[in-house]
Amino acid sequence: MFQTLAYALRTLALNQVPRRPPEEVERLQEQRLRRLVRWAVARSPFFREKYRGVRLDRFRLADLPPVGKAELMDRFDEAVTDPHVRQSDVVEFFEDPGNLGRYFRGRYAVCHTSGSQGRPMSIVQDRAVLDLLFGLHFTRGNATARVGAREALRRLLNPARLAVVTTRPGFFPSAAAFAYMPAPAKRFVRKAQFSSTDPQIVERLVEFRPTVLTSYASVLETLAQDADRLRLAPDLRQVVNISEMLTEKARARVEAAFGVPVVDCYSMGECPFLSNGCPAGSGAHVNADWAVFEVVDEAYRPVPPGTLGHKVLVTNLANRVQPIIRYEIGDVVEMADRPCRCGSRLPRIARVVGRAAEKLWVRDGTRGCEVSGSLLKNACDYFHQAREWQVVQTEHDQLRVRLELLPGAALDRARAERAVADRLAFFGLPRGVEVRLEIVPRLEPDPATGKFRRLVSLGGAAGAAREPVRQAG
Ligand SMILES: [Zn+2]
Repeated sequence: MFQTLAYALRTLALNQVPRRPPEEVERLQEQRLRRLVRWAVARSPFFREKYRGVRLDRFRLADLPPVGKAELMDRFDEAVTDPHVRQSDVVEFFEDPGNLGRYFRGRYAVCHTSGSQGRPMSIVQDRAVLDLLFGLHFTRGNATARVGAREALRRLLNPARLAVVTTRPGFFPSAAAFAYMPAPAKRFVRKAQFSSTDPQIVERLVEFRPTVLTSYASVLETLAQDADRLRLAPDLRQVVNISEMLTEKARARVEAAFGVPVVDCYSMGECPFLSNGCPAGSGAHVNADWAVFEVVDEAYRPVPPGTLGHKVLVTNLANRVQPIIRYEIGDVVEMADRPCRCGSRLPRIARVVGRAAEKLWVRDGTRGCEVSGSLLKNACDYFHQAREWQVVQTEHDQLRVRLELLPGAALDRARAERAVADRLAFFGLPRGVEVRLEIVPRLEPDPATGKFRRLVSLGGAAGAAREPVRQAG
């Protein structure tokens, strides 16, 4: 009981932070950053070397060199702060599916990224990270705004019902995190995990009567199409997207289908509690008391709010065992430049356009040409009959646009093909690139990662042409 009470108090305290003056949150952030950096330097040979020459008593954030995934994976054993945590043992631990939800060496939650952005990353986290992740979902991630001692008491008597639908089991960050739900949290929330490929998924959800439905964007959209059969009202209070990019249109469809707010979280396995979707529906608020989130340009210079960056740097202030400090991710993000109508004063992510890596190289005559993911998005979002689209590069001068239509929608293929080719050309795709359009019954997630890929590229600027690459769009 004491454990439950302590957990409830810690969790409720999290709810006070978003309305505090930003300077106060920044101070908290800085204290935690200094503590983490000192800890990392004291315990990890990798960080000791990395931060050689940094004055630990008076450094600024920008003094710390950014860290990449490859470095952290290549030097895993030196980068962690517990010498008993070894990469070979972690990888071996992943090999037994029975270990899912078990603590590695009795104390660490582990997962690995899907590898949709290249090489998978093994992630080891303290229990504090999981405590925080769930605590933040229950408070700052709660769209009903009913958070407080009375609500906590009500939940003890009548726990919330959280349905988590994932594409497949495994140690993937989003699925694994739910397997590690802290014991005291289970007093307040009853959780059930479902597989999106289960043919009985609709029946199972109806039987469970979730108050919160959490899943990936593509799965939520599929479920939304079954909303009539799903009949989750009046129990369902909110829908949460935890993975994949939820487009504006998709969000509107999911919201209309279920009749409840959809909150869209932006996070990553390396910092699973980075943000909580804004309950007012305008992006996601960064949990700046426990994470540092920097939107930067190519040369790691900060980009002002209201402007798209080139990549982001993420610092997880809660994980002591595998320090994630100014960790580079190739996401193109824009921070909001005005206060949020929900009342939270935490920094707000206005939009995530996609991965900088989300681009392809085409051949334009003899030259290579770089095409950004946003160029393709601008052209393909034009089809309001489409539920989802995908661009597959079949040759360096051939693109196939694949469309899955909304149920009952129709589209003249030949006309649509001309329209998309014109729009792509309008946004800057070289005319020499052939565009074919295909209407498919279903766009499925990538079987290797369980995630939907909007862009399937042949890769390699070098493969496109021998001459220098220029940019389109
Ligand atoms: Zn907000």
